[in-house]
Amino acid sequence: MPMREDLGVKELINADSMKTLLGGTLMAPSVLDAMRNAAESYVDMHELQRAVGKRLANLTHNEAAFVCTGASAGLILATLACITGRDMNMVGTAIRDGVASFPRRDFVVQCGHRNPYDPAIVLAGGRLVQVGNVLQTFAWELEAAITPATAGVLYFAGKHLGFGALELEEVVRIAHAADVPVIVDAAAQLPPQENLWSFTKRGADLVIFSGGKELRGPQASGLIVGRRDLIEACALHASPNQRLARAMKVGKEEMLGLLAAVELYMTQDDADELARCERIVTEWVDALGSLPGVSAERSFPGTDGRPLPRAVISFDSSMGLTGASVQAALLSGRPAIAVAVADPRAIYLNPELLRTGEEKTVLDRVSQVVGRGTPVTPS
Ligand SMILES: *Cc1c(COP(=O)(O)O)cnc(C)c1O
Repeated sequence: MPMREDLGVKELINADSMKTLLGGTLMAPSVLDAMRNAAESYVDMHELQRAVGKRLANLTHNEAAFVCTGASAGLILATLACITGRDMNMVGTAIRDGVASFPRRDFVVQCGHRNPYDPAIVLAGGRLVQVGNVLQTFAWELEAAITPATAGVLYFAGKHLGFGALELEEVVRIAHAADVPVIVDAAAQLPPQENLWSFTKRGADLVIFSGGKELRGPQASGLIVGRRDLIEACALHASPNQRLARAMKVGKEEMLGLLAAVELYMTQDDADELARCERIVTEWVDALGSLPGVSAERSFPGTDGRPLPRAVISFDSSMGLTGASVQAALLSGRPAIAVAVADPRAIYLNPELLRTGEEKTVLDRVSQVVGRGTPVTPS
């Protein structure tokens, strides 16, 4: 069923990536059913939260788990949890005064890991302490940055951020030696499926995933897994309690929707998704690479350093096309297609989020826009 047409908002084909800006990902029927059932019932929210957390912990082979409103909210809750723990005096002070008066609220982060999501720590009252530089971080720099004011070490996972940064094992070794927990933001780091438990197995204390990305759960959902005491501390700050993180309320619809999404995800095989993406990329590369003035290649890893392929399509200077002009033409066409700019004269085409058959539409429209292809029939 199309989106509300009366609003005049156009639907997109998403050949870009799992971006909140483009509506994230699509939910499977079982996830929608779970949300619908939840929306039609009353329940004790504490009881539901505990039961869903327990089931999610089992499914993901973790000690404990918690549903939040998104990975960004997960960062806020993890920050608060590391600052106060389960100390009700501190939780109470936080409600009154925030956490600014607490002496232990520094979060150490490697320079190479800095990214647009880390202000969540600041919103929660944490102070970011950056170590290393864009090219490298040394173990001694991290050791020196951990002081009695340190509440946690933040680790942003993903090949796109790992360049020159210390490995997780090393970070865990140094942090744990000082009795400081390690938070891993792995929001977009699925596949592989095993990442749901491998970061915690490698020693991370809390690991955060977006529910609205690869898990294909509700857009406003996220998953925190890890140490039981810290997960309980997250819950102390969160709704339905009327405490500091009350504004990030998780509805019963998101809780049960995310649970259904993780249940479905665990039945799927990473290899099938990889094979589907490889097949589409090969088709695109073969067809578009044969157009005059155009070159096409498989590019790997894909968005956010994830282990999935995409195609990179480049234009000769003689063609007078830029990545941005092709992107704009595809977005303003019919059907509208979102793609990412790869460099000044290239775009990425990502097969991941396409519904069956859309790969053909993308191929036709891109062929047409780059000037030599067959026109697509407007839908
Ligand atoms: C997408 C992303 C987030 C935010 O996830 P939401 O679930 O949309 O809040 C946080 N951190 C990183 C590294 C991300 O890629």
